[in-house]
Amino acid sequence: MNPSPLPSRLVDSFGRVHNNLRISVTDRCNIRCVYCMPESVQFLPRTDLLTFEEIERFVRVATTLGIDKIRLTGGEPLVRRDLPLLVSRLAAIPGVKDIGLTTNGILLRPMAQTLWDAGLRRINVSLDTMDPAKFETLTRRTGFEDVISGILAAKDAGFDPVKVNAVAIKGMTEDDVVPLGRFAREHGLELRFIEYMPLDAGDHWERGKVLFASEILELLASGISPLAPAPDQDPRAPAIDYDYVDGGGRVGLIASVSRPFCMSCNRVRLTAEGKLRNCLFALQETDIRALLREGATDDAIARALVESVAGKWEGHQINTARFIKPERLMHSIGG
Ligand code: SAM
Ligand code: SF4
Repeated sequence: MNPSPLPSRLVDSFGRVHNNLRISVTDRCNIRCVYCMPESVQFLPRTDLLTFEEIERFVRVATTLGIDKIRLTGGEPLVRRDLPLLVSRLAAIPGVKDIGLTTNGILLRPMAQTLWDAGLRRINVSLDTMDPAKFETLTRRTGFEDVISGILAAKDAGFDPVKVNAVAIKGMTEDDVVPLGRFAREHGLELRFIEYMPLDAGDHWERGKVLFASEILELLASGISPLAPAPDQDPRAPAIDYDYVDGGGRVGLIASVSRPFCMSCNRVRLTAEGKLRNCLFALQETDIRALLREGATDDAIARALVESVAGKWEGHQINTARFIKPERLMHSIGG
């Protein structure tokens, strides 16, 4: 019997079309954010990581199924040697329309221009505070000044907008919201707050520690200027965008907990060791590396991707008693 023809789009049983692939290039990181990683971690041996050739092959196959948007993440993607080379190889794949990077920014300053020249066009830098001492508390490392200079170097290299991601944790980051807002306005950056999610080391997450998007909006409105929903929202984007009514810029709120966006999810994720995850909170994975290393055909790899997406669940259950925290922590998934 002939196998069924492959689809041209990745559609799950809820009708969601997937065009967005997030690729983790390493589980290693040069800092230790308290909401993401434990202080000491057993990292993957290097031979477990997908090679650039393997990543490139998977992306080529994925583009035949409609994947056209790639984001490189980690761990900290800039600690992976020769990352700009991977960017240029992915940018050369005909179906790839858009490549982005999420980074902690520590190593960004000397690399920003090279990344731009390699074809990277979107950049998100994570920064939770404008207070250098608090930066050290939150990341258990130094590097605040490097992040700031990395953000400014990205702007100079041509990234527009540079997005700044801040995790919002109740009892921890309220005082950082307004200073971050001011910094973003001063430099024309797009600030995005991400509600704290249960993917942390040590199981510290609880619902009461989520600083909700609505609370962040109130802090910004009273400390800086009122905001109104942006007129040009992308309904499929995870962030809900707001514009300062005084024209001072845009703020995005990623309300994963208080307003889950699962029903418009268009993402799949590939971990650094080649496990395909159809949800950030997935409890099952597909071993793409095994297929790549066992000589599977492109057709077999494509079918594994189609099958993974087809089996995607309706959404995470964070707000219910049914929620089961995945074993993997954020840094080993690729946020
Ligand atoms: N190292 C890079 C960085 O920090 O940007 C990329 C990987 S990091 C896992 C990706 C994003 O996930 C960062 O913006 C980080 O702040 C966010 N993140 C990590 N742990 C989180 C958590 N428990 N809840 C919400 N966001 C989290
Ligand atoms: Fe590293 Fe990013 Fe996790 Fe912070 S959030 S520990 S920078 S991977």
